[in-house]
Amino acid sequence: MADSGLTDVPAVGEALLRAILDPNLPLVSDVREVTAKTLVTKYPSDDHPFATLYNINLYRGCGHGCIYCDTRSACYGIIDISRIAVKQNAIALLERELAGKRKKGVIGTGSMHDPYMSLEERIGLTRRALEVIHRHGFGVHVITKSALVERDIDILTRLQAYHAVVSFSITTVDDDLARQLEPGASLPSRRLQAMARLRAAGIHSGALIMPLLPGLTDGEQNLRRLASALKIHGAEYALPGCLTLRDTGRAYFYSRLAKINPQALALTQRIYGERYLPPKEYAAKVYRLASTIITEAGLVQQIPKWRLDTQVTQLPLW
Ligand code: SF4
Repeated sequence: MADSGLTDVPAVGEALLRAILDPNLPLVSDVREVTAKTLVTKYPSDDHPFATLYNINLYRGCGHGCIYCDTRSACYGIIDISRIAVKQNAIALLERELAGKRKKGVIGTGSMHDPYMSLEERIGLTRRALEVIHRHGFGVHVITKSALVERDIDILTRLQAYHAVVSFSITTVDDDLARQLEPGASLPSRRLQAMARLRAAGIHSGALIMPLLPGLTDGEQNLRRLASALKIHGAEYALPGCLTLRDTGRAYFYSRLAKINPQALALTQRIYGERYLPPKEYAAKVYRLASTIITEAGLVQQIPKWRLDTQVTQLPLW
């Protein structure tokens, strides 16, 4: 397996050791290597809301520690997301699996873990994966809450020959509130700065305004300030989304929210109770408000899609 252009990124084993010893990663309680059987999963079509045909997870767990994180749900078998598993064979799997795909399309990453959590700075799996995706002529849609994505503007710029989109997950411009909700992520102000840099490089970028939290981020004032900041920083699109809550994820969220904002907890419990999705009336009200504000700010509610006419002759693999 070639690792062209990655001389600045250490081998996984060495990086892991350094990461474990890093005092700046308090939201990471454990880091270990695992061997995955497969890496690339396929959706039935690219009508997926995130406009992706494939998905990859390079890590399991996430060092951003968002208090509402759905990855804590029991169905994923992770629960303690501070224990990070690094798929040490991810790049070899990606090379092999992409070589065998007949249909090109956009590969998504970031819906189950953040591909730019702090560990990535040391380990470089995401950077390697972008190189492989580019060599095989696929597109990419990265979802992140981290300004570390700026590091890979060079590769993302090359990926534009096929398709490159970076969505920042962001629900408020209030850095102090975000510090409490998403303790390990880049502050919203840094995410916005990174978005502006990506846009200046011509890379598609916008926001996933999700999950909107009752009494904290679902109000008109918050949404107007956010939509305006997104527009100023060059966002092309914004997609709103409500919170989802189930079993272990809900228990963790409620326990943390009790310490941060008991009024918001009481409101969330009134709205959600033990439900996974919010009641239809609440969801409709939130989507209506968010959609109006997003449209008034001049943003669309659609992620740029892979277009057949953007597919160019595949570059040589080596
Ligand atoms: S960045 Fe995403 S995956 Fe990571 S903790 Fe936050 S919500 Fe979960």
